[in-house]
Amino acid sequence: MSKKLPMFQTREEAAEYWATHDTAEYWDDMEDVDLKVHPRIKSPRDLSRRCPVCDDVLLFRYAERDAAGGRVTLHRLMEFYCRQGHGVWLAPEAAKELRAIEAVLDLRSVEPVLVEELVAA
Ligand SMILES: [Zn+2]
Repeated sequence: MSKKLPMFQTREEAAEYWATHDTAEYWDDMEDVDLKVHPRIKSPRDLSRRCPVCDDVLLFRYAERDAAGGRVTLHRLMEFYCRQGHGVWLAPEAAKELRAIEAVLDLRSVEPVLVEELVAA
């Protein structure tokens, strides 16, 4: 008996789930898809993010990052890293989330302006 596929809100959520579950148990609930793959792509490994220094496939992990000058700490941000230590890069989704949160906190740090001051200006 095949299991029912769970619903995921984010790709990170799905990645985390499939890291610990066997897709074979969900086979009957999956849809067939047709894929046309570029001839240069021979394996899923060819789609992986690579280190710009050594060209090794990057690994990923979840990390904490301080934002807005340390006023908040974001947890479980996905980042890619080179196992040879050439660098750490936030996943695009995580970087976008971080920028959005910093933008909101920047707005909140602006002193409110009295309406009369705006009218007088
Ligand atoms: Zn590297």
